[in-house]
Amino acid sequence: ELILAVETSCDETSVAVIRGGKEILCNLVSSQIETHEKYGGVVPEIASRQHVESITLMIEQAVQEAGVTLEELSAIAVTQGPGLVGSLLVGVIAAKTLAMALDIPLIGTHHIAGHIYANQLVHELVYPCVALVVSGGHTELVVLEREGVFRIIGRTRDDAVGEAYDKVARALKFPYPGGPHVDRLAGEAEEEIELPRAWLEPDSYDFSFSGLKSAVLAAINQANMKGLTLDKGALARGFQNSVIEVLVTKALRAVHAEGAKQLLLCGGVAANKGLRTALAARCESEQVPLLVPPMSLCSDNAAMIGAAAHLKWKHAAFTSLDMKAEPSFSLEGWSVQS
Ligand code: ATP
Ligand code: MG
Ligand code: FE
Repeated sequence: ELILAVETSCDETSVAVIRGGKEILCNLVSSQIETHEKYGGVVPEIASRQHVESITLMIEQAVQEAGVTLEELSAIAVTQGPGLVGSLLVGVIAAKTLAMALDIPLIGTHHIAGHIYANQLVHELVYPCVALVVSGGHTELVVLEREGVFRIIGRTRDDAVGEAYDKVARALKFPYPGGPHVDRLAGEAEEEIELPRAWLEPDSYDFSFSGLKSAVLAAINQANMKGLTLDKGALARGFQNSVIEVLVTKALRAVHAEGAKQLLLCGGVAANKGLRTALAARCESEQVPLLVPPMSLCSDNAAMIGAAAHLKWKHAAFTSLDMKAEPSFSLEGWSVQS
């Protein structure tokens, strides 16, 4: 089957055409980073207006680039949530209009299921598996007992990892999104400023990053007040090492406790070099197969939405045309029923 997928949950407009849940015929991504950079973060009103400006043309281009015709499409998939409501709405309306006009099924898709199933576009998933989801809005450990069935065993109690990265980067005067800058700085640093690790309760799979972020901000303020030069690299490295150690330790504990056959890394922060390296090393020494999508499929894109939508296609679990965008959509609730 051919699924045309649309993703507009945040600040990337993306349209993809996917065959059989696996083969990417095209995956167009238009990022708004340049627009939001001058505001230091995503401005929701501007994001939705830009989606409106690009979506129609991008759908036309995607179909053309994929070398298919609209009549050949089997279904239209769209990110239903979670995300910014104004941004989601643009994709949802475009997808509904197309599904109605072509008289084919609509598949409202979960954004985080998309991040997880980005792995399916390049790897074979084996169940049960555990996914470590690290993105701008989420930090979660998810168990997949079977295909398309999600159980969240841990989540952040405050900031998401990507959010913490962006706030730290902003305090270090890097432009939005700052995650990659902190990653680079940490990788180049020779010194490290030791920062605390938030383990929480011994048996908990939850995360907390706001204390760590506050420790970084406090160190920056202190240096400013005393007129000292701050070793940005050492601070970035201390921050990154704290984040990575907690993520890697909890993820591996979950893999063993759940008898998982694979660990999947996904979400925008999966692009972090330090995290990829540390996770790969731990997985190798503990003989856990690690799946990581290529960089282009870590950040927001519609191909991953098409891959997740394929699960619902297989069960003919389609979405009514009167569905609404869901800014806080439940991942577990989106699981396939069977
Ligand atoms: P969500 O998927 O939770 O709805 P989102 O879609 O906004 O949130 P993504 O696009 O998946 O988030 O990821 C973007 C985040 O990833 C940003 O916070 C960005 O700083 C972070 N990020 C990207 N590359 C890196 C990196 N190399 N190191 C750390 N963080 C990074
Ligand atoms: Mg984004
Ligand atoms: Fe995302």
